[in-house]
Amino acid sequence: MATIIRGGAVLDLAGHRARPADILVEDDSIREIGPPGLPAPAAARTIDARDRLLIPGLVNAHTHSHGALARGLVPDAIPLEILLGYAGAVNGHRTLEDKYLSAQLSAIELLRKGCTACYDMFTEFPAPTTDGVHAVARAYRDVGVRAVVAPMMADLTLWQALPGLLASLPDDARRRVEGLRAAPAATSAATCRDILKAWPMDRGDVAPGLGPTIPLHCSDEFLTACRDLAREFDVGIQMHLAESRGQAVLGVEKYGTSLTAHLDALGVVGPRFSGAHAVWLDDDDVRRLSAAGASIAHNPMSNLRLGSGIARVRAMRQAGVRIGLGTDSASSSDTQNMFEAMRLCAYLSRVQTFDYREWITAEEAFRLATEGSADVLGMARIGRLAPGFKADVVFLDLSRTGWVPLNDALLQLVNGESGAAVDSVMVGGRLVLEHGRLLTVDEAKVRAEAERTAERLRTVNAESYALARAMADHVGAFCVRVAGRV
Ligand SMILES: [Zn+2]
Repeated sequence: MATIIRGGAVLDLAGHRARPADILVEDDSIREIGPPGLPAPAAARTIDARDRLLIPGLVNAHTHSHGALARGLVPDAIPLEILLGYAGAVNGHRTLEDKYLSAQLSAIELLRKGCTACYDMFTEFPAPTTDGVHAVARAYRDVGVRAVVAPMMADLTLWQALPGLLASLPDDARRRVEGLRAAPAATSAATCRDILKAWPMDRGDVAPGLGPTIPLHCSDEFLTACRDLAREFDVGIQMHLAESRGQAVLGVEKYGTSLTAHLDALGVVGPRFSGAHAVWLDDDDVRRLSAAGASIAHNPMSNLRLGSGIARVRAMRQAGVRIGLGTDSASSSDTQNMFEAMRLCAYLSRVQTFDYREWITAEEAFRLATEGSADVLGMARIGRLAPGFKADVVFLDLSRTGWVPLNDALLQLVNGESGAAVDSVMVGGRLVLEHGRLLTVDEAKVRAEAERTAERLRTVNAESYALARAMADHVGAFCVRVAGRV
Protein backbone atom coordinates (compact mmCIF):
# COMPACT_ATOMS: atom_id res chain seq x y z
CA MET A 1 0.00 0.00 0.00
CA ALA A 2 1.54 3.28 -1.13
CA THR A 3 0.48 6.84 -0.52
CA ILE A 4 1.97 9.98 -2.02
CA ILE A 5 1.55 13.27 -0.17
CA ARG A 6 1.79 15.96 -2.85
CA GLY A 7 2.03 19.73 -2.88
CA GLY A 8 2.98 20.28 0.76
CA ALA A 9 6.02 21.85 2.34
CA VAL A 10 8.22 19.96 4.79
CA LEU A 11 9.65 21.79 7.78
CA ASP A 12 13.37 22.36 7.23
CA LEU A 13 14.66 22.74 10.78
CA ALA A 14 18.14 23.97 10.07
CA GLY A 15 16.98 26.32 7.34
CA HIS A 16 13.96 27.58 9.34
CA ARG A 17 11.84 27.25 6.23
CA ALA A 18 9.04 25.31 4.60
CA ARG A 19 10.62 23.34 1.77
CA PRO A 20 8.24 22.24 -1.03
CA ALA A 21 8.41 18.44 -1.15
CA ASP A 22 6.39 15.30 -1.78
CA ILE A 23 6.42 12.37 0.64
CA LEU A 24 6.09 8.79 -0.56
CA VAL A 25 4.70 6.47 2.11
CA GLU A 26 4.79 2.70 1.85
CA ASP A 27 2.86 0.66 4.38
CA ASP A 28 3.41 2.47 7.67
CA SER A 29 6.70 4.21 6.88
CA ILE A 30 8.20 7.01 4.85
CA ARG A 31 9.89 5.62 1.77
CA GLU A 32 11.17 8.80 0.19
CA ILE A 33 10.99 12.58 0.46
CA GLY A 34 11.78 14.49 -2.69
CA PRO A 35 11.13 17.56 -4.80
CA PRO A 36 7.59 18.19 -6.09
CA GLY A 37 6.71 15.66 -8.78
CA LEU A 38 8.36 12.76 -6.93
CA PRO A 39 7.62 9.53 -8.85
CA ALA A 40 5.17 7.18 -7.14
CA PRO A 41 3.71 3.76 -7.97
CA ALA A 42 0.71 4.03 -10.33
CA ALA A 43 -1.61 2.55 -7.69
CA ALA A 44 -0.52 4.98 -4.99
CA ARG A 45 -3.24 6.98 -3.28
CA THR A 46 -2.65 10.73 -3.51
CA ILE A 47 -3.16 13.13 -0.61
CA ASP A 48 -3.33 16.80 -1.51
CA ALA A 49 -1.20 18.83 0.91
CA ARG A 50 -1.24 22.17 -0.87
CA ASP A 51 -1.00 25.05 1.58
CA ARG A 52 0.09 22.69 4.33
CA LEU A 53 3.26 22.59 6.40
CA LEU A 54 4.23 18.99 7.14
CA ILE A 55 5.89 18.26 10.47
CA PRO A 56 6.56 15.00 12.31
CA GLY A 57 3.90 14.08 14.85
CA LEU A 58 4.80 15.59 18.22
CA VAL A 59 5.62 13.15 21.01
CA ASN A 60 4.47 13.68 24.59
CA ALA A 61 6.96 12.20 27.06
CA HIS A 62 4.69 12.41 30.11
CA THR A 63 0.95 12.45 30.62
CA HIS A 64 -1.82 10.68 32.52
CA SER A 65 -4.87 9.63 30.53
CA HIS A 66 -7.02 9.27 33.65
CA GLY A 67 -6.79 13.06 33.97
CA ALA A 68 -8.98 13.66 30.92
CA LEU A 69 -12.23 12.87 32.74
CA ALA A 70 -11.10 15.03 35.67
CA ARG A 71 -10.45 18.10 33.56
CA GLY A 72 -11.17 21.25 35.56
CA LEU A 73 -11.57 19.43 38.87
CA VAL A 74 -8.14 20.19 40.32
CA PRO A 75 -8.52 23.34 42.43
CA ASP A 76 -6.73 26.52 41.47
CA ALA A 77 -3.48 27.59 43.12
CA ILE A 78 -2.55 24.41 44.97
CA PRO A 79 0.85 22.72 45.10
CA LEU A 80 1.52 19.12 44.07
CA GLU A 81 1.10 17.63 47.53
CA ILE A 82 -2.44 18.96 47.93
CA LEU A 83 -3.23 17.68 44.44
CA LEU A 84 -2.03 14.21 45.46
CA GLY A 85 -4.59 14.24 48.26
CA TYR A 86 -7.25 14.26 45.53
CA ALA A 87 -6.11 10.96 43.98
CA GLY A 88 -8.95 8.92 45.43
CA ALA A 89 -11.53 11.57 44.61
CA VAL A 90 -10.38 11.96 41.02
CA ASN A 91 -9.79 8.29 40.24
CA GLY A 92 -12.19 6.42 42.50
CA HIS A 93 -15.11 4.26 41.38
CA ARG A 94 -14.08 4.08 37.75
CA THR A 95 -15.42 1.19 35.71
CA LEU A 96 -13.46 -0.46 32.93
CA GLU A 97 -15.52 1.56 30.45
CA ASP A 98 -14.58 4.78 32.27
CA LYS A 99 -10.88 3.95 31.99
CA TYR A 100 -11.24 3.25 28.28
CA LEU A 101 -13.26 6.43 27.82
CA SER A 102 -10.79 8.66 29.66
CA ALA A 103 -7.92 7.32 27.54
CA GLN A 104 -9.94 7.87 24.35
CA LEU A 105 -10.68 11.42 25.37
CA SER A 106 -7.05 12.02 26.19
CA ALA A 107 -5.84 10.50 22.91
CA ILE A 108 -8.30 12.60 20.90
CA GLU A 109 -7.02 15.77 22.54
CA LEU A 110 -3.44 14.79 21.73
CA LEU A 111 -4.24 14.11 18.07
CA ARG A 112 -6.14 17.35 17.64
CA LYS A 113 -3.07 19.16 18.96
CA GLY A 114 -0.68 17.44 16.59
CA CYS A 115 0.65 14.81 18.95
CA THR A 116 0.85 11.22 17.71
CA ALA A 117 2.55 9.37 20.57
CA CYS A 118 2.71 9.62 24.34
CA TYR A 119 4.04 8.09 27.55
CA ASP A 120 0.95 7.53 29.65
CA MET A 121 1.35 6.99 33.40
CA PHE A 122 -2.21 5.84 33.77
CA THR A 123 -3.54 5.02 37.20
CA GLU A 124 -6.25 2.80 38.54
CA PHE A 125 -7.48 3.33 42.03
CA PRO A 126 -6.56 1.56 44.25
CA ALA A 127 -4.34 -0.76 42.14
CA PRO A 128 -3.62 -1.68 38.52
CA THR A 129 -5.56 -4.44 36.80
CA THR A 130 -4.75 -6.34 33.64
CA ASP A 131 -8.15 -5.49 32.18
CA GLY A 132 -7.72 -1.79 32.98
CA VAL A 133 -4.30 -1.51 31.36
CA HIS A 134 -5.52 -3.43 28.32
CA ALA A 135 -8.56 -1.14 28.05
CA VAL A 136 -6.32 1.93 27.99
CA ALA A 137 -4.03 0.34 25.40
CA ARG A 138 -7.08 -0.45 23.27
CA ALA A 139 -8.27 3.14 23.53
CA TYR A 140 -4.98 4.40 22.05
CA ARG A 141 -5.10 1.82 19.30
CA ASP A 142 -8.72 2.65 18.47
CA VAL A 143 -8.11 6.41 18.30
CA GLY A 144 -4.82 5.87 16.46
CA VAL A 145 -2.19 7.28 18.82
CA ARG A 146 1.01 5.46 19.74
CA ALA A 147 1.62 5.07 23.44
CA VAL A 148 3.65 3.57 26.22
CA VAL A 149 1.08 2.62 28.86
CA ALA A 150 2.73 2.45 32.27
CA PRO A 151 0.45 1.73 35.22
CA MET A 152 1.11 4.39 37.84
CA MET A 153 1.38 2.76 41.26
CA ALA A 154 2.30 3.35 44.89
CA ASP A 155 2.37 1.03 47.86
CA LEU A 156 2.25 3.87 50.40
CA THR A 157 -0.49 6.46 50.82
CA LEU A 158 0.33 10.17 50.78
CA TRP A 159 -0.07 10.08 54.57
CA GLN A 160 2.50 7.32 54.94
CA ALA A 161 4.77 8.65 52.22
CA LEU A 162 5.71 12.07 53.56
CA PRO A 163 7.74 11.76 56.75
CA GLY A 164 6.19 13.90 59.47
CA LEU A 165 2.90 14.57 57.68
CA LEU A 166 0.68 12.35 59.84
CA ALA A 167 2.23 13.67 63.03
CA SER A 168 1.63 17.23 61.87
CA LEU A 169 -2.14 16.75 61.58
CA PRO A 170 -4.67 17.73 64.25
CA ASP A 171 -6.07 14.63 65.98
CA ASP A 172 -9.46 14.61 64.25
CA ALA A 173 -7.87 15.02 60.81
CA ARG A 174 -5.27 12.34 61.52
CA ARG A 175 -7.93 9.86 62.55
CA ARG A 176 -9.59 10.22 59.13
CA VAL A 177 -6.53 9.14 57.14
CA GLU A 178 -4.14 7.16 59.33
CA GLY A 179 -5.91 3.87 58.65
CA LEU A 180 -5.84 4.25 54.86
CA ARG A 181 -3.63 1.80 53.00
CA ALA A 182 -2.40 1.51 49.41
CA ALA A 183 -2.32 -1.74 47.45
CA PRO A 184 0.52 -3.99 48.68
CA ALA A 185 3.73 -4.04 46.61
CA ALA A 186 3.54 -7.77 45.97
CA THR A 187 0.03 -7.52 44.55
CA SER A 188 0.84 -4.69 42.13
CA ALA A 189 4.10 -6.34 41.08
CA ALA A 190 2.30 -9.62 40.39
CA THR A 191 -0.31 -7.81 38.26
CA CYS A 192 2.46 -6.06 36.31
CA ARG A 193 4.17 -9.40 35.68
CA ASP A 194 0.93 -10.78 34.23
CA ILE A 195 0.53 -7.69 32.04
CA LEU A 196 4.10 -7.85 30.75
CA LYS A 197 4.07 -11.61 30.17
CA ALA A 198 1.27 -11.47 27.63
CA TRP A 199 1.11 -8.04 26.03
CA PRO A 200 -1.66 -8.15 23.44
CA MET A 201 -0.46 -5.50 20.99
CA ASP A 202 2.33 -4.59 18.61
CA ARG A 203 4.81 -2.71 20.82
CA GLY A 204 5.54 -0.31 17.95
CA ASP A 205 1.97 0.95 18.35
CA VAL A 206 1.24 0.57 22.05
CA ALA A 207 3.90 -0.71 24.42
CA PRO A 208 3.71 -1.54 28.11
CA GLY A 209 5.79 0.19 30.77
CA LEU A 210 6.00 0.53 34.54
CA GLY A 211 5.15 3.59 36.61
CA PRO A 212 6.02 3.43 40.32
CA THR A 213 4.84 6.96 40.81
CA ILE A 214 7.09 8.84 43.25
CA PRO A 215 10.11 7.56 45.22
CA LEU A 216 8.66 8.60 48.60
CA HIS A 217 5.37 6.86 47.81
CA CYS A 218 7.01 3.52 46.99
CA SER A 219 8.83 1.22 49.40
CA ASP A 220 12.33 0.13 48.39
CA GLU A 221 10.95 -3.39 48.10
CA PHE A 222 8.43 -2.21 45.50
CA LEU A 223 10.99 -0.12 43.62
CA THR A 224 13.39 -3.04 43.30
CA ALA A 225 10.53 -5.29 42.16
CA CYS A 226 9.73 -2.77 39.40
CA ARG A 227 13.44 -2.51 38.53
CA ASP A 228 13.65 -6.29 38.10
CA LEU A 229 10.48 -6.46 36.01
CA ALA A 230 11.74 -3.66 33.73
CA ARG A 231 14.97 -5.58 33.16
CA GLU A 232 13.31 -8.95 32.69
CA PHE A 233 10.77 -7.73 30.14
CA ASP A 234 12.89 -4.91 28.66
CA VAL A 235 10.33 -2.16 29.22
CA GLY A 236 10.53 1.46 30.33
CA ILE A 237 10.11 2.59 33.91
CA GLN A 238 8.90 6.14 34.52
CA MET A 239 8.69 7.94 37.86
CA HIS A 240 7.98 11.45 39.03
CA LEU A 241 11.45 12.59 40.06
CA ALA A 242 12.11 15.49 42.42
CA GLU A 243 9.06 17.28 41.08
CA SER A 244 8.48 19.55 44.08
CA ARG A 245 10.77 21.19 46.55
CA GLY A 246 8.94 19.35 49.32
CA GLN A 247 9.80 16.00 47.75
CA ALA A 248 13.46 16.94 47.48
CA VAL A 249 13.67 18.08 51.12
CA LEU A 250 11.76 15.07 52.47
CA GLY A 251 13.81 12.73 50.29
CA VAL A 252 17.00 13.80 52.01
CA GLU A 253 15.29 13.45 55.41
CA LYS A 254 14.05 9.96 54.62
CA TYR A 255 16.99 8.50 52.69
CA GLY A 256 19.93 10.61 53.82
CA THR A 257 20.66 11.23 50.13
CA SER A 258 18.90 12.92 47.24
CA LEU A 259 16.00 11.10 45.60
CA THR A 260 18.08 10.48 42.48
CA ALA A 261 21.01 9.12 44.50
CA HIS A 262 18.65 6.82 46.36
CA LEU A 263 17.11 5.46 43.15
CA ASP A 264 20.59 5.12 41.70
CA ALA A 265 21.75 3.12 44.73
CA LEU A 266 18.76 0.81 44.26
CA GLY A 267 19.76 0.25 40.64
CA VAL A 268 16.56 1.81 39.31
CA VAL A 269 18.33 4.54 37.30
CA GLY A 270 19.45 3.25 33.91
CA PRO A 271 18.72 3.54 30.18
CA ARG A 272 15.12 2.33 30.63
CA PHE A 273 14.46 4.90 33.38
CA SER A 274 12.81 8.25 32.75
CA GLY A 275 12.23 10.81 35.47
CA ALA A 276 9.28 13.12 34.95
CA HIS A 277 9.78 16.78 35.96
CA ALA A 278 13.28 16.51 37.46
CA VAL A 279 13.04 20.05 38.81
CA TRP A 280 14.98 19.80 42.08
CA LEU A 281 18.19 18.15 40.95
CA ASP A 282 21.68 19.13 42.05
CA ASP A 283 24.78 18.72 39.92
CA ASP A 284 25.49 15.28 41.35
CA ASP A 285 21.96 14.11 40.43
CA VAL A 286 22.43 15.38 36.89
CA ARG A 287 25.76 13.57 36.61
CA ARG A 288 24.20 10.35 37.86
CA LEU A 289 21.35 10.50 35.32
CA SER A 290 23.80 11.17 32.54
CA ALA A 291 26.24 8.44 33.58
CA ALA A 292 23.42 5.90 33.81
CA GLY A 293 22.06 6.81 30.36
CA ALA A 294 18.72 7.77 31.90
CA SER A 295 16.28 10.29 30.49
CA ILE A 296 13.94 12.93 31.84
CA ALA A 297 10.56 14.28 30.73
CA HIS A 298 10.37 18.05 31.11
CA ASN A 299 6.83 19.34 31.82
CA PRO A 300 7.05 23.12 31.94
CA MET A 301 3.31 23.88 32.01
CA SER A 302 2.54 21.53 34.87
CA ASN A 303 5.54 22.80 36.79
CA LEU A 304 4.13 26.31 36.52
CA ARG A 305 0.52 25.37 37.31
CA LEU A 306 1.57 23.60 40.52
CA GLY A 307 4.35 26.04 41.39
CA SER A 308 6.90 23.23 41.28
CA GLY A 309 9.73 25.25 39.74
CA ILE A 310 11.74 25.32 36.54
CA ALA A 311 13.88 22.36 35.52
CA ARG A 312 17.51 23.02 34.57
CA VAL A 313 17.18 21.89 30.98
CA ARG A 314 20.37 23.54 29.72
CA ALA A 315 22.47 22.02 32.50
CA MET A 316 21.03 18.59 31.81
CA ARG A 317 21.62 18.92 28.08
CA GLN A 318 25.19 19.99 28.68
CA ALA A 319 25.70 16.96 30.91
CA GLY A 320 24.34 14.69 28.19
CA VAL A 321 21.08 13.69 29.87
CA ARG A 322 18.51 12.48 27.34
CA ILE A 323 15.49 14.80 27.45
CA GLY A 324 11.94 14.76 26.12
CA LEU A 325 9.06 17.16 26.55
CA GLY A 326 5.70 16.43 28.11
CA THR A 327 2.50 18.07 29.21
CA ASP A 328 1.43 16.13 32.31
CA SER A 329 -2.25 15.37 32.61
CA ALA A 330 -5.31 17.32 31.51
CA SER A 331 -6.30 17.59 35.18
CA SER A 332 -3.04 18.90 36.61
CA SER A 333 -1.85 21.06 33.75
CA ASP A 334 -5.12 21.52 31.92
CA THR A 335 -4.01 21.41 28.30
CA GLN A 336 -2.18 18.51 26.77
CA ASN A 337 -0.61 20.84 24.28
CA MET A 338 2.88 20.09 23.02
CA PHE A 339 3.02 23.42 21.17
CA GLU A 340 2.71 25.14 24.54
CA ALA A 341 5.28 22.77 26.01
CA MET A 342 7.79 23.69 23.30
CA ARG A 343 7.25 27.38 23.73
CA LEU A 344 7.49 27.28 27.51
CA CYS A 345 10.57 25.08 27.34
CA ALA A 346 12.30 27.71 25.24
CA TYR A 347 11.03 30.77 27.09
CA LEU A 348 11.45 29.55 30.68
CA SER A 349 15.14 28.97 30.04
CA ARG A 350 15.34 32.70 29.35
CA VAL A 351 14.32 33.72 32.87
CA GLN A 352 16.93 31.40 34.39
CA THR A 353 19.90 33.35 33.11
CA PHE A 354 20.73 36.64 31.44
CA ASP A 355 23.28 34.86 29.28
CA TYR A 356 21.30 34.39 26.09
CA ARG A 357 23.83 31.89 24.82
CA GLU A 358 22.44 29.46 27.40
CA TRP A 359 18.83 29.86 26.29
CA ILE A 360 16.93 26.98 24.71
CA THR A 361 16.34 27.79 21.05
CA ALA A 362 13.24 27.08 18.99
CA GLU A 363 15.12 24.36 17.13
CA GLU A 364 16.16 22.67 20.37
CA ALA A 365 12.63 22.84 21.77
CA PHE A 366 11.25 21.30 18.59
CA ARG A 367 13.81 18.50 18.66
CA LEU A 368 13.03 17.78 22.33
CA ALA A 369 9.30 17.55 21.51
CA THR A 370 9.92 15.10 18.69
CA GLU A 371 13.18 13.10 18.62
CA GLY A 372 13.85 13.70 22.32
CA SER A 373 10.49 12.44 23.49
CA ALA A 374 10.57 9.54 21.01
CA ASP A 375 13.79 8.47 22.69
CA VAL A 376 12.12 8.64 26.14
CA LEU A 377 9.30 6.42 24.84
CA GLY A 378 11.85 3.99 23.44
CA MET A 379 10.31 4.27 19.98
CA ALA A 380 13.29 4.64 17.69
CA ARG A 381 11.56 5.29 14.37
CA ILE A 382 9.25 8.17 15.21
CA GLY A 383 9.83 11.90 15.72
CA ARG A 384 11.35 12.72 12.32
CA LEU A 385 10.21 13.02 8.75
CA ALA A 386 12.86 10.97 6.99
CA PRO A 387 13.03 7.79 4.93
CA GLY A 388 12.75 4.74 7.16
CA PHE A 389 10.78 6.57 9.86
CA LYS A 390 7.12 5.86 10.60
CA ALA A 391 4.75 8.00 8.56
CA ASP A 392 3.45 10.03 11.51
CA VAL A 393 2.75 13.37 9.85
CA VAL A 394 0.92 16.49 11.01
CA PHE A 395 -0.53 18.80 8.35
CA LEU A 396 -0.67 22.44 9.47
CA ASP A 397 -2.94 24.82 7.56
CA LEU A 398 -0.75 27.69 6.37
CA SER A 399 -3.78 29.89 5.64
CA ARG A 400 -4.49 30.21 9.36
CA THR A 401 -3.78 33.26 11.46
CA GLY A 402 -0.22 33.25 12.63
CA TRP A 403 1.16 31.76 9.44
CA VAL A 404 0.49 34.70 7.12
CA PRO A 405 2.91 35.87 5.89
CA LEU A 406 5.21 32.87 6.11
CA ASN A 407 8.62 34.31 6.92
CA ASP A 408 10.27 31.75 9.19
CA ALA A 409 8.54 28.39 9.47
CA LEU A 410 10.39 27.22 12.57
CA LEU A 411 9.94 30.39 14.63
CA GLN A 412 6.30 30.73 13.63
CA LEU A 413 5.78 27.10 14.60
CA VAL A 414 7.49 27.09 18.01
CA ASN A 415 6.83 30.66 19.04
CA GLY A 416 3.38 31.08 17.54
CA GLU A 417 1.39 27.91 16.91
CA SER A 418 -1.32 26.86 19.38
CA GLY A 419 -2.50 23.70 17.66
CA ALA A 420 -5.36 25.57 15.97
CA ALA A 421 -3.74 25.09 12.55
CA VAL A 422 -3.66 21.29 12.88
CA ASP A 423 -5.75 20.26 9.87
CA SER A 424 -4.96 16.60 9.29
CA VAL A 425 -2.90 13.95 11.03
CA MET A 426 -1.45 10.72 9.67
CA VAL A 427 -0.21 7.97 11.97
CA GLY A 428 1.64 5.00 10.51
CA GLY A 429 0.58 5.94 6.98
CA ARG A 430 -3.12 6.10 7.91
CA LEU A 431 -5.06 9.36 8.04
CA VAL A 432 -6.71 9.56 11.46
CA LEU A 433 -7.73 13.22 11.31
CA GLU A 434 -8.76 14.72 7.97
CA HIS A 435 -9.54 18.40 7.60
CA GLY A 436 -10.52 18.58 11.25
CA ARG A 437 -12.67 15.44 11.24
CA LEU A 438 -11.65 12.47 13.33
CA LEU A 439 -11.84 9.31 11.20
CA THR A 440 -11.21 6.64 13.81
CA VAL A 441 -13.83 7.01 16.55
CA ASP A 442 -17.21 8.71 16.90
CA GLU A 443 -16.22 11.89 18.67
CA ALA A 444 -19.79 13.01 19.38
CA LYS A 445 -20.47 9.70 21.12
CA VAL A 446 -17.27 10.00 23.17
CA ARG A 447 -18.29 13.49 24.20
CA ALA A 448 -21.78 12.45 25.28
CA GLU A 449 -20.37 9.53 27.27
CA ALA A 450 -17.78 11.78 28.87
CA GLU A 451 -20.41 14.23 30.10
CA ARG A 452 -22.58 11.44 31.50
CA THR A 453 -19.63 9.68 33.11
CA ALA A 454 -18.14 12.80 34.65
CA GLU A 455 -21.48 13.62 36.27
CA ARG A 456 -21.75 10.11 37.71
CA LEU A 457 -18.14 10.19 38.98
CA ARG A 458 -18.59 13.56 40.65
CA THR A 459 -21.58 12.13 42.52
CA VAL A 460 -20.10 8.80 43.60
CA ASN A 461 -16.83 10.43 44.63
CA ALA A 462 -18.42 13.34 46.50
CA GLU A 463 -17.35 11.99 49.87
CA SER A 464 -13.74 11.59 48.72
CA TYR A 465 -13.75 15.15 47.40
CA ALA A 466 -15.04 16.39 50.73
CA LEU A 467 -12.25 14.55 52.53
CA ALA A 468 -9.59 15.94 50.15
CA ARG A 469 -10.93 19.45 50.65
CA ALA A 470 -11.00 19.01 54.43
CA MET A 471 -7.36 17.84 54.45
CA ALA A 472 -6.05 20.36 51.91
CA ASP A 473 -5.10 23.15 54.31
CA HIS A 474 -3.35 20.73 56.67
CA VAL A 475 -1.29 19.26 53.83
CA GLY A 476 -0.59 22.74 52.53
CA ALA A 477 0.61 24.01 55.90
CA PHE A 478 2.91 21.00 56.23
CA CYS A 479 4.33 21.58 52.74
CA VAL A 480 4.98 25.25 53.33
CA ARG A 481 6.92 24.38 56.49
CA VAL A 482 8.87 21.62 54.70
CA ALA A 483 9.70 23.74 51.68
CA GLY A 484 11.06 26.43 53.98
CA ARG A 485 13.63 24.09 55.50
CA VAL A 486 17.13 24.43 54.21
ZN1 LIG B 1 2.72 13.38 36.17
